Amino acid sequence: MRNLESKHHARQVARLVIICTVLFLGMMWAAIGYFATESRAARISEEQRVLGRMARMVQEQTYALISFVDYFLVAADLRFQQHPRSDPRTDPGFRVMVDNFRARTRGFVDIRFVSSDGTLYYRDDIDGQGRAQVDDRDYFRVQMQSPPQGLFIAHPVMSRYTNRWGLPVSHPLKARPHDMAVIFAAIDNIAFSEPFEAARTKPNGSIVLVHHDGSILFRSPEAGLIGKSLLGSGLWTDENRSKNDGVFELSSGTSDGLARIGAFAKVPDYPIVAIATSALDDTLREWRTKVAGVIAVGIAATLAGIALLMRLRSSLRSLDTTQRELAAQANIDELTQIANRRFFMQHGSQELERSLRYERPLSLLIYDVDHFKHINDSHGHDAGDLTLKAITQAIQEELRTTDLQARFGGEEFAILLPETVLDKAIEVAERLRARIEKTRFANMGEQDAAITISIGIAAYSSGGETLNELIARADRALYRAKADGRNRVCADVGA
Ligand code: GH3
Ligand code: MG
Ligand code: MG
Repeated sequence: MRNLESKHHARQVARLVIICTVLFLGMMWAAIGYFATESRAARISEEQRVLGRMARMVQEQTYALISFVDYFLVAADLRFQQHPRSDPRTDPGFRVMVDNFRARTRGFVDIRFVSSDGTLYYRDDIDGQGRAQVDDRDYFRVQMQSPPQGLFIAHPVMSRYTNRWGLPVSHPLKARPHDMAVIFAAIDNIAFSEPFEAARTKPNGSIVLVHHDGSILFRSPEAGLIGKSLLGSGLWTDENRSKNDGVFELSSGTSDGLARIGAFAKVPDYPIVAIATSALDDTLREWRTKVAGVIAVGIAATLAGIALLMRLRSSLRSLDTTQRELAAQANIDELTQIANRRFFMQHGSQELERSLRYERPLSLLIYDVDHFKHINDSHGHDAGDLTLKAITQAIQEELRTTDLQARFGGEEFAILLPETVLDKAIEVAERLRARIEKTRFANMGEQDAAITISIGIAAYSSGGETLNELIARADRALYRAKADGRNRVCADVGA
């Protein structure tokens, strides 16, 4: 009973530990998940703030440069309206203006002209030999319409001379001095790449200038993307186009296939958007290391938890085994491993009841080892123990599985024979006695080798006899067998 209670208690404690462990692990992983997503979002929005500042800086510098170019081109147009006869390629006053302008743009912006037939002229091209025909170029054509476009930011052109990208910004010359219809500024890529390459996040961040029609005017790093269109990317959404600035996150569809986060800012007055991006991979590098560390700790804790649960399970199992063993021990004799008296009395009572109800025969034998004290005295108590084991084993071999042999105490045993009438029981007893008589037990020496048993028999006769009464009759018969000289079978006949 104490055993059952403590086992119940142990089970409850174990269940509590299991629940707490599972609960703890669940909460821990929920916290890890929360930490991971929260810190990721925080890292991204922090990076987007940085990119937002960067996009505004790019937007300001681009505005400064383009508006300065704009201002110069307008001034040039006005000048030639006042001096319609001067040649823009050689006019000394204009030359001073251009030199000044080039000095202020650090030599990165060249001034060129296109005659009304579409021939390109550089400064000093006085031999009348145009450098090239550009009559198919957008920056020329839009100015030949009526009315002309005014300031026009063209698509980037790769210079045949410098092998660098340039951004033509054209303006009409109303006065058409010396048949020059268009003036344009070719902004060398370096004008943008010099400040922006240094500013972008390394290694995979980018700074991009995009025309409102989606074409890429400038990109650092170049990555072969200048002149390409951004229209396919998820960045060019209606929502983003309607805003002056904003942030975005692109998991796919970027020009170089990298997932990116970024910020954009529209350049005022001109159809240009400034964009600064970082590769998501670069942004999240530190975050990943941190989360990996936390996950490693989580895995360690989980493994420890699982180990604890396994330990607990095996403890519970061994508790079960112990319990079963205890239960078995309550019914089994420790030395001989056959039933004990307690179990015999329980089982015997049931058998007796069954015999009574169905009017079936039942017999009971009690046997006692002859002169066992002598065996103990001459061979030792341990040898006596072994002999008892051997005797019960030999007897067991002679019995049916439905028969029950039990140790009553010391060297005295009882056997229940269900469905067995007295005559049959006498036969069985005789067989048992003969078996023991002829068995040679080990380690006994020659003269003591012969061990014998005496057996008393009583058969159940209906009429409400109790098990104890039946045992008492068998006992009396055994006493007579002993008195008659031992190594014999004696049956009680009266009842
Ligand atoms: P008999 O029955 O023939 O009259 O003589 P006996 O010597 O067998 O009878 P007795 O009752 O005088 O002695 C029984 C002996 O059995 C005494 C006791 O030491 C021994 N004995 C009882 N239980 C055990 C046991 O578990 N192991 C061993 N080795 N000896 C036991
Ligand atoms: Mg004896
Ligand atoms: Mg005895």
